[in-house]
Amino acid sequence: MADAKIIDGKAFAQGLRRRVADQVKILKEDHSLTPGLAVVLVGEDPASQIYVRSKNKMTVEAGMKSFEHRLPAETSQKELLTLIEGLNSDPDAHGILVQLPLPDQIDKQVVLAKIDPAKDVDGFHIFNAGKLATGSSGLVPCTPLGCLMIIKEQLGDDLSGKRALVIGRSNIVGKPMAALLLREHCTVTVAHSRTADLPGEAQRADILVAAVGRANMVKGDWVKEGAIVIDVGMNRSPPDAEGKSKLAGDVDFDEAREVAGAITPVPGGVGPMTIACLLQNTVTAACAQNELDVPEI
Ligand code: NDP
Repeated sequence: MADAKIIDGKAFAQGLRRRVADQVKILKEDHSLTPGLAVVLVGEDPASQIYVRSKNKMTVEAGMKSFEHRLPAETSQKELLTLIEGLNSDPDAHGILVQLPLPDQIDKQVVLAKIDPAKDVDGFHIFNAGKLATGSSGLVPCTPLGCLMIIKEQLGDDLSGKRALVIGRSNIVGKPMAALLLREHCTVTVAHSRTADLPGEAQRADILVAAVGRANMVKGDWVKEGAIVIDVGMNRSPPDAEGKSKLAGDVDFDEAREVAGAITPVPGGVGPMTIACLLQNTVTAACAQNELDVPEI
């Protein structure tokens, strides 16, 4: 019986943020270029406020410029599009991120399509999604990018021939994750709510990525002996008598760790990688906009 390595996503993300900070230092010193990230928050969603605060803090810590735009919940779509137009033509804002979800009066797709694809550091623009789907290089969504980095850290750079199962087919996690693994020459299966035999699909996977949003759904006996298990799920339990709630992944961690070769915990696995990859994407975007190579660290 395997005793899985518990992957420390927090430490890995810290290392990536340090590398990004070193890249920023070089860009400043050698090219007088300070990468900048503009984050737009509409409304007062508490979780979004926390995300935006930590994105801002980590952007500044990496030596970059952070531009925060907080708009009231009743902001019209037109007003938001006007702000994005301004950011698209602002040479100091190399990356633009609109925090989701947006209020009901705003069409998310219209807003995401308005962002200049060269500044689309979330990688959600249809142009960047198309680039990823067709195998060319563009800005890649942060969470799947972070998952791929973790997988390569564990298995090495050559993933060719590995069987990968991605559970979930959303545009922000499942589909780009599958496209990235395909680009790495894995044999990729994408499962979803209509998949006939999910445990059977999972049992064949050398790489198992769960991005579903259902606490502890993936059981230990679904996992292939020695597989790497990446748990993207973030499921918050209802508050207990003391008002405290717990975060659980999509994978039954205690069961799966008995079988897997390596596994990400929740919290402390994939989560911290998302912001670190956002910072990396901002550096990538800043370099591309200035026709520079990303400094090698
Ligand atoms: P979505 O709700 O957009 O997608 C969920 C996917 O899971 C869908 O494709 C759905 O299938 C599939 N699914 C639902 N139920 C089942 C089931 N019983 N069996 C198999 N597949 C099922 O979620 P997201 O992709 O946005 O997020 C997934 C999880 O990842 C969430 O917990 C979210 O909080 C977390 N997350 C974490 C991030 C991080 O930084 N760590 C970032 C983003 C998300 P179908 O398409 O058929 O409906």
